[in-house]
Amino acid sequence: MENKVKHVLGISGGKDSAALAIYLNDTYPSLDIEYYSCDTGKELDETYQLIKNLEIYLGKSIKVLNGVGNEELNPFDHFLNRYGGYLPSTMSRWCTKSLKLAPFEKYIAGDQPIVSYVGIRGDEDREGYISKKSNVQSIFPFRKNIWSVDVINKVLSNSNKDFVVNLYKEMAVSKSKDRGLKILEAAVAPTFKIDEKLDSILDHSIQDFNKVVFAFLKTTSYPLATCDDFPLIDNNDILVRDDIFRILEDSGVGVPAYYKKKEYHVEIDGEMKTGYYSRSRSGCFFCFFQQKIEWVWLFENHPKLFEQAMNYEKEGFTWQQGETLEELSSEERRESIKREHYTRIKRKKAKFQSPNLVDILTDSTADEWEVDWEEEEGKGCAACFI
Ligand code: SF4
Repeated sequence: MENKVKHVLGISGGKDSAALAIYLNDTYPSLDIEYYSCDTGKELDETYQLIKNLEIYLGKSIKVLNGVGNEELNPFDHFLNRYGGYLPSTMSRWCTKSLKLAPFEKYIAGDQPIVSYVGIRGDEDREGYISKKSNVQSIFPFRKNIWSVDVINKVLSNSNKDFVVNLYKEMAVSKSKDRGLKILEAAVAPTFKIDEKLDSILDHSIQDFNKVVFAFLKTTSYPLATCDDFPLIDNNDILVRDDIFRILEDSGVGVPAYYKKKEYHVEIDGEMKTGYYSRSRSGCFFCFFQQKIEWVWLFENHPKLFEQAMNYEKEGFTWQQGETLEELSSEERRESIKREHYTRIKRKKAKFQSPNLVDILTDSTADEWEVDWEEEEGKGCAACFI
């Protein structure tokens, strides 16, 4: 019965989904996972290299979904034509919809139960894209709570309380089982919200709670209801950004080169200062989510790609509001962006307390590059950047 379920993992080209593939391959080898990647045709070379490295490590090919079949134009240009040359933006995200979500929805179409693994980390507070299709269930192995919000809402709803309490009585094995029972017996209320109940029960025992959720799912039509067992119910790991870098480095797959910080120099009040920049995300090289300093990084490190991005700007369509890439690329403007970036990051660094172990052990404050990245990482689209 179990082999009916298909396990899938989307590789965005970012560090977290790549690390998740390695982690699941190494920690849960019994899971037969199918990997896919939605290719916009406009990713950085480093992204394609990461995918190749992963294929070698995993010993499996990564299925490429490009959303347009065998058209001559690459996927992004195909849809740009269809949208009349109208560039995507934060207000009009046709690119994510057509190039990432639609191919995924097509890939999972049908009735086959599907478990989809998502690389949201334990130090992030976001859900990621969850398909509305009833044959798909998302699992978040890096988080303390591996279940999606819809599952949690059902398991911890007051209407299912007695049923869940009985499951817990039968299944929990932790020494202080009575304490867990009290948490589950307490009704959700304005003074005890569902998130607080979830945190309390997970703080008590992750494994007991996972066992109960898995038993609960057996009474539903969720994909995991068709599985005899699920190894992740014993998962106690919570993985944060440090762990992701470690997994990528230790495996030999490597951290995508665009994440690596590079020095820039800028004159401020007559003094030469050294700042750091990198790209903070995977995705298309012209992604409109990038900050101005990332555009400067692209200009100075990938001039041909910058030129290609610039060539898309015509007839009033620009990647950013209020400034063309031609204007941004002038020496004077780039200097001014670096000055603003350097000053802003210095100011933030003074207030910043890094949550990452590596920073705590080496220095209580992260470097400028870390501060910048912390803020940028969660922005934008989980389908493109995990
Ligand atoms: S990376 Fe940016 S431009 Fe590319 S599909 Fe995603 S949101 Fe759109």
